[in-house]
This record gives sequence, C-alpha cells and structure tokens, in this order.
Amino acid sequence: MGTDMALVSMGPMLKRAQAAGYGIAAFNMIDYNSARAIIEGAAAMKAPIIVQVSVKTIRHWGYKPIATWVRMLAETVEVPVALHLDHCSDGDVIRRCIDAGWTSVMFDGSSLPFAENKARSEDIYRLTEAAGVGLEAEIGAIGGVEDDKFVAEDSAILADYDECLEFVKNMPNLAVFAPAIGTAHGFYKGQPKIAYALLEKITAAVAIPIALHGGTGLSQEQFDRCIAGGCAKVNISTMHKHRFIEGFVAVRQDKPKLEEPLPFIIGQYDAMKKDVTDMIVAFGSAGKAAHAAGEDAER
Ligand SMILES: [Zn+2]
Repeated sequence: MGTDMALVSMGPMLKRAQAAGYGIAAFNMIDYNSARAIIEGAAAMKAPIIVQVSVKTIRHWGYKPIATWVRMLAETVEVPVALHLDHCSDGDVIRRCIDAGWTSVMFDGSSLPFAENKARSEDIYRLTEAAGVGLEAEIGAIGGVEDDKFVAEDSAILADYDECLEFVKNMPNLAVFAPAIGTAHGFYKGQPKIAYALLEKITAAVAIPIALHGGTGLSQEQFDRCIAGGCAKVNISTMHKHRFIEGFVAVRQDKPKLEEPLPFIIGQYDAMKKDVTDMIVAFGSAGKAAHAAGEDAER
C-alpha cells in the first residue's frame, strides 16, 4: 500500500470483494471515538472499511464535523475507508452529505410503492452519478428498527425477484443493492429466516454487489452463506451501539471511584475496536486492504 489514503468510494471495492468472496464491514459510527475505533480497527487488520452514518447521528453532530473526523482518521491509516450515509429517504440530507464529502449515500425508498421507490431512486441515482459518489438503494422491507422506522419482523417483506431486476435496470452503476432477504435490524429474537435461494438468484442475475442489513447477531455460518451468495457489504450497527454503551459502563463497574474521564473513553474504544476486528475476521476481509483498493493487479 502507498502512504496515507484519502476517502474512497465503496462501489469499486465492493465489486472486488464480491468477486473474491469476502465481505466488507460497514459500521455505524456514533462519535469521534467510535469512528476512530472503526478505522483503527480496520487498519490493525489491514482491511477495507465502510464508516456509515445514520441521519439522526448527522442531525446531532452536523455534516462538517463528521466528514472532517472521518477524513482526518482515514488519512492516518493505509487502508481504504469509505464514508457512507445509511438509510435516508430525504433528498436534502443526501445532497448535503454529498456537498460535505460523503463518498456514497443510501436512498431508502422501501416504504414507498414499488414504482415510486424506483422513480425516486433513479432521481437520486442521476444526482449521485453526476457528483461521482456511490448509491445504495433498497427494496422490500428489512425488519426491526432503523432510526424512527419500525418494521415488524413477521411483516418484513422479502424483495420480489422480478421487481429486483426491474428496479436496478436503469441504475447499472449502483454501488450496492439492498434487497430484503429476511434479515432484520436490532437483536434477533429467535432465528432469522434468510432467503438464501432468493439472494443467490438475484446475485446471478444482477452485476451489482449486495448489502446485508441487520448483521448483528448472525452466526458465522449465516455470514459465510450470505457472503458466498453475493453480500459484499455487511452492516453492523446494533452491536456497535451496544459496545459503545457497555464499554463505558464496564469501566464504572470495575472502578466505582474513578474520577478521570479518559479511562472511560479508552474502555469504550477498546470494546468497540474488539468487535470491529472480530467482524473483519468473520467476514474474511482481514488482509484485503490492497486487494479492495485495486492495488494487487499493479504488482
Ligand atoms: Zn439497514
């Protein structure tokens, strides 16, 4: 790898990951400490990484602080780092992220009727193509809670195969496609029923990497099958939030009289980073930084 790297767009590296059969972790950052744990965890594993941000996190910190933190951290490591906007149905937020330096965005029109989702996704696609950033788009309904949207797990709707083909037809350069395949956001109650056959059928027909939402709590076997089936982007949000809170609280439980704040921040960082490195191993992306960046071919 060369020296420090600027932010990269996730599309090309997801294509390389899908072709080689590994998954790139996409963690939802919470604050600077969290972004640092994600990026430095990836650097420790020589792995490509996607730092993604939910709309409510942007509303809390602002666009510029987040873009500045992530770019600055990316410049200190030698692995490719992408900055991505997670589930967003607001075109204005998408535009502001692009202006602030995000390298990809997700338009989530999955709550809209199919034709409207397709039309609005294509509008955003034209915008992202013109701006040179990647786009993730979703169809079907992924179960669980994402920000203020709640989809009951038993009413989560699998993506329809024919609609998938129709949906992506006019978006050939989509960075990643998120069809609902039976996974859910949050912690699973009981075993998720993942529609592997549907996933494989979509992957065989569509030359676009697939996103696996609701990665928290899936087993190694489930990760392996999803990644082998075409999922190149694996989202982890719930476990990262859990480590953020528990990492901090564990320091207080261990040292009830501690008055120095930094050990709390460090305990929180260590807990988050451990999960990042564990997931990178689980997804098979350890040591893949140069491959994902497209630098293997140059040797
Ligand atoms: Zn999601």
